[in-house]
Amino acid sequence: MKTIDNYNFANKKALIRVDFNVPLNEKFEITDATRINAAIPTIKKIISEGGSVILMSHLGRPKQGPEEKFSLKHLIPYLSEKLNTKVKFADNCVDNSAKEKAKSLLPGEVLLLENLRFQKEETKGDEAFAKKLSELGDVYVNDAFGSAHRAHSSTAIIAKFFPKEKFFGYIMENELKNINKVIKKNEKPFTAILGGAKVSGKIEIIKNLLDKVDNMIIGGGMMFTFIKALGGEIGSSMIEEDLLNVALETIEKAKELGVNLLIPTDAVIADVFSNDAQILTSDSNNIPEGWMGLDIADESIKDFSIIIENSKTLLWNGPMGVFEMSNFENGTKAIAEAVAEATKKGAFSLIGGGDSVAAINKYGLANKVSYVSTGGGAMLEFIEGKELPGIKAIEE
Ligand code: AMP
Repeated sequence: MKTIDNYNFANKKALIRVDFNVPLNEKFEITDATRINAAIPTIKKIISEGGSVILMSHLGRPKQGPEEKFSLKHLIPYLSEKLNTKVKFADNCVDNSAKEKAKSLLPGEVLLLENLRFQKEETKGDEAFAKKLSELGDVYVNDAFGSAHRAHSSTAIIAKFFPKEKFFGYIMENELKNINKVIKKNEKPFTAILGGAKVSGKIEIIKNLLDKVDNMIIGGGMMFTFIKALGGEIGSSMIEEDLLNVALETIEKAKELGVNLLIPTDAVIADVFSNDAQILTSDSNNIPEGWMGLDIADESIKDFSIIIENSKTLLWNGPMGVFEMSNFENGTKAIAEAVAEATKKGAFSLIGGGDSVAAINKYGLANKVSYVSTGGGAMLEFIEGKELPGIKAIEE
């Protein structure tokens, strides 16, 4: 892998694409600095070697040019404190002043560029814009895994202007190593646990994983499309009628491949979509009219936990139920605990995708699993088996 550890940055200007897309409150204070903190080791490695650093990122989704609430200047105080050095700022990422500031950087100094998306060329993957950015540095480092699925100027197109001097930062390296460990170098038995609302959002993942796993657990709202496809009664549970065939094909394919496809046998059902609903437990394929399944119930939890705790590799994406409501969080919580238990017994566990990351954090188990991916959409596309432009651009 082309990582920064294979390069000496002394007297080099490293142009680093980071993901500083952090949430800000009305006073423009950072409310969650996780993404900035994650990028610090890459920046520190370079400045401590006597390189200088030019940081570029997007923040939010500005529509037409600069907007105060999306300015990266709000990050300067925090970043300066974290890096223990004064961070310089260029209020336009490609004008002459940015060029001058980049040019005059001394070893160990850090320059932050204004939001790349203030220029409309960025998201279009404009080559001339990428070239202008490239002229600011001698070396290109991509450490923005969360944007690796975008073919934008700063995440992918720019790499062609650094035919040799282009590398993955530490976040990228970690994400790629950990996800590849699950997808390509897994130890068996390998179990994928898939949940969340809809089959439509997960179908590419299901397809790509089916010939790699030993067990595939289907939970969340999407379980009901499978249950209905098998002829079950699902009441008013979430359903995607147009995917009944896809569900049946998946069941057939799993049989063909010898994959153990686990569909919940029981469910926690409610008469309305509310935490104050009347609640019952039901067989998952015999839900009365007017009731909806909002979580998996005890029997499924028990069956799934045994499979999970006997696995050597685990990939978890998507909650088992409406875990945001306390009456429907048991399934998700129990599965999170089973994943932690399996990890304790030596399994490698990867958690990825927005809601499963939120769940593992909610139950305080983030440091009891092997790796929590920060990648969001990029991680999902990676496990769908797609080639990510930001990764390809460095490897090419
Ligand atoms: P996704 O973004 O597709 O991973 O879906 C996550 C969402 O699915 C969460 O907000 C859950 O509340 C929701 N969800 C999980 N199980 C169910 C269910 N049985 N019925 C409706 N929504 C569900």
